[in-house]
Amino acid sequence: MSPGEDRPAALVQGILEGDVRSAARLMRAIDDHDPGAREALKQIYPHTGRAHVVGITGPPGVGKSTLTDRLVERYRSDGQTVGVVAVDPTSPFTGGAILGDRIRMQRHATDPGVFIRSLATRGQFGGLTPSTRAVIDVLDAMGKAVIIVETVGVGQDEVDVVAAAHTTLIVTVPGLGDDVQAIKAGLYEIGDLFVVNKCAREGAAKTVSELRALIELNRRPREEADPEAWVPAVYGTEALAGEGVAELAAAIDQHRAWLLADDGRRLAAWRRRQLRQGLLDMVREELWRVARTRLSDEGIEAGVDRIAAGRDDPYSAAEKLRDTILGRGDG
Ligand code: GDP
Repeated sequence: MSPGEDRPAALVQGILEGDVRSAARLMRAIDDHDPGAREALKQIYPHTGRAHVVGITGPPGVGKSTLTDRLVERYRSDGQTVGVVAVDPTSPFTGGAILGDRIRMQRHATDPGVFIRSLATRGQFGGLTPSTRAVIDVLDAMGKAVIIVETVGVGQDEVDVVAAAHTTLIVTVPGLGDDVQAIKAGLYEIGDLFVVNKCAREGAAKTVSELRALIELNRRPREEADPEAWVPAVYGTEALAGEGVAELAAAIDQHRAWLLADDGRRLAAWRRRQLRQGLLDMVREELWRVARTRLSDEGIEAGVDRIAAGRDDPYSAAEKLRDTILGRGDG
């Protein structure tokens, strides 16, 4: 897909028709920093905004993949098409995979109504969130009704990724000890629904009630800000056996209905926040891309040398590089 060729148009056409190969090609181009990818993304953008994006996060091993698999099954039995983005920043080689490398989802791999894509940190747009947004746009333009973004909730990057979803699920399991505390610290604010998976395990009732108490604590401030604020609910599931998944899917639908109610006022507000964040992310990437073309490797190394030799502090060295970028110095 080289610039100047007519290929992006054909690729875009393919994607709008739901063609899997075209979508896979564009996603690969996004990974490969192909300049044609940006052109194609611009062209598909007007055809996005229809899918419902569901974010799933939580610590490793709690059953996010299993739950995703079950939700996919559920949506497929309802006749809805599904896209899955498995974001795995801890894996060095998932970028570029067309089919999920998650074994549990392999059974959906041959279903043309399901498109699974793994994503690591690589990507034309640098950050994890802009790359994920680009992939979501492709799935959306393909016509997928529901897009599930699954990621390990370990850092700010991952929180940002799922915060870009319409409905965010935070998954935990009984007996993780401090886990409710961990959720409180970082993830609580972005959770629309909380899932206690492996709920046949001992301690499930305690985990559920702790989460409910936490929600109750935060309920008043939320409702003061908006009397019709969404109150997160807690669901128990046994994803492996598929138990509780129907109820969870119904709750996702309820959250979607809540977003859409009132003439879509909440959805519009949500969208505006997303657009703002997305725009700022992209401006940051753009600025860095331009800046990088103005900084030579030698200039950067010289800066490091000065800091290492004690001739400069990192702050002053960074200011010198900034001046170089802005054409004000010779750094
Ligand atoms: P992830 O890392 O959060 O995506 O977790 P996985 O979906 O890979 O699941 C981790 C392990 O937990 C796997 O061995 C699953 O088979 C198992 N598992 C997932 N859900 C359940 C469940 O509801 N009950 C039990 N007992 N095991 C489960």
